[in-house]
Amino acid sequence: MTKGRIFSGMQPSGRFHLGNYMGALENWVRLQHEYECFFSIVDLHALTSSYSDTSKLQENVMEMAIDWLSAGLDPEKNVIFVQSHVKEHAELALLLGMSTPLSWLERVPTYKDKLQNWSAQGKDNNTYGFLGYPVLMAADIMLYKATCVPVGEDQSAHLELTREIVRRFNYLYNREVFPEPQAVFSKAKVLPGIDGRKMSKSYGNTIPFGAGPEEMWERIRMMTTDPQRIKKTDPGHPEVCIVYAFHKVFNPEEYEEIGARCRAGEIGCVECKKRLAEKMNALLADIHTKREELSKKPEYIKEVLDYGAQRARKEAEKTMAEVKTAMNVL
Ligand code: ADP
Repeated sequence: MTKGRIFSGMQPSGRFHLGNYMGALENWVRLQHEYECFFSIVDLHALTSSYSDTSKLQENVMEMAIDWLSAGLDPEKNVIFVQSHVKEHAELALLLGMSTPLSWLERVPTYKDKLQNWSAQGKDNNTYGFLGYPVLMAADIMLYKATCVPVGEDQSAHLELTREIVRRFNYLYNREVFPEPQAVFSKAKVLPGIDGRKMSKSYGNTIPFGAGPEEMWERIRMMTTDPQRIKKTDPGHPEVCIVYAFHKVFNPEEYEEIGARCRAGEIGCVECKKRLAEKMNALLADIHTKREELSKKPEYIKEVLDYGAQRARKEAEKTMAEVKTAMNVL
């Protein structure tokens, strides 16, 4: 008996990083034991912001599948699939778009923020597809009649909109086709990037999830430390140091000791970084071995995604039959 059905997705929009792992995937790996889970690589969502250059999309989809499997998502236990392989996502999004008021979409807090951000970078994303992003997200969740959606605090507005779309549908067509999905909050761990801002693809400050020892060292070497510390013997201020923030997350056993030695001017930044690199390489070693094995088996990855799509399609077709009956578009 599971606690309910989960839908969650992630955009294949670039190299998966440790922030994505700590903030989302690690949580999914836990949730797979408690819920019936549908996890989707949402390539159509990636198009809502990166529609002009799609040359890397296929590669990103495959890489994301490899990342998920190497982190421990089980393709038997969960339904793991690519959004565009199940055409009902597009179909339901179109139908839901008929009854979703424009004002609901325009008031989503991230909508205007993101548009402004992009236009500051010279990107024009003022498109119909981007405005409709939350409708597509609602369709993703509703297609599987998911009862639970794992969200960080910042995404709760999107889920609220899905709930409104569900209520409107059930009311307009006078039947309870869809459950109202509930948020499953995780203890959001926002991981900083190597420059201290939130780790994000758009800031170029990430540590890739698949980083081997060389790349790991390259990224850790570049981390910002206490700017007031010139010589090793200068007393350090670990609370302003990114390396220290990483020790806290990835090296809790040595964290206190390293802090004390830094304050006393007994450990230099290079040694401190080396210890972090060793620790992180050790923690990620199994995942990397798995990742390397899977990278050599693209046929297997395709099979996993085909199998997932078949299972997802079965559920999606059932839901669409009900939706079409309700809306008289037989
Ligand atoms: P990015 O900011 O790199 O583009 P996304 O917006 O695609 O990342 O996020 C994908 C998932 O990873 C989301 O669930 C998001 O909450 C999580 N995530 C992204 N960056 C971080 C971070 N630095 N710390 C924790 N979680 C993160």
